[in-house]
Amino acid sequence: MPTARPDHQRRLLDLQARDTAIDRIRHQAAALRADPEIAAAQERSTATQTRREQAQAEVDDAGEALAAAEHAVEQVATRIQRNQQRLDAGTGSSKDLTALQHEIGTLGSRRSDLEDAELAVMERVETAQAALDESTVGASEAAGALGALTEVRDARLRDLSGEFEREKAARAEVLAGIDDAALVSLYEKLRSAHDGVGVAPLQGSRCGGCMLELNPKDLAAIRAAAEDAVVRCEECGRILVRA
Ligand SMILES: [Zn+2]
Repeated sequence: MPTARPDHQRRLLDLQARDTAIDRIRHQAAALRADPEIAAAQERSTATQTRREQAQAEVDDAGEALAAAEHAVEQVATRIQRNQQRLDAGTGSSKDLTALQHEIGTLGSRRSDLEDAELAVMERVETAQAALDESTVGASEAAGALGALTEVRDARLRDLSGEFEREKAARAEVLAGIDDAALVSLYEKLRSAHDGVGVAPLQGSRCGGCMLELNPKDLAAIRAAAEDAVVRCEECGRILVRA
């Protein structure tokens, strides 16, 4: 049976307390980083941003279509005006003038059709702009919600980081007080094999690690063991520290 100074054995319990705290901090930080609420908010924000970009693209397309429709109306209007001026000047044969008159009539109904089309495009622009305004508000709200959640999480991560540093420093101090490499190495080995707990106090007749009652024979052997004997729980194998 290995031996270690009783005070070193008792300090092992302090080391365990620090390691348990460090594990808890790591676990909490990992849970915060994987927060499903933030992941959902991130997803919502990305989706609303995509909708906003699509709405913006439709506004751009509709704007271009409107410019084209306006240009088409202008072109016909210019031709009508030019023909009208030629007609008013009265130059050319009467056949030419009749043809001009006829063309003006045709262009007039063409202009009317183009103006109807222009109106339809204007409605499309309005609808697109309304959708863009709405999705801009939605994207901004979703980004705001994400930002608020992230801010709270980051503040908590900063707190945990501070706690982590304090626990690490405290652990180093405790470790420095255990001048027994073999004991610490055994503790580390058991800790990694037993869910992060390598040492436990003997609480009456119970192991503080696995919480099982020791049988009377094992208990008697532990009580009879030399003070510097490193005893182990027969049930879980952890180091048992006697008070
Ligand atoms: Zn045990």
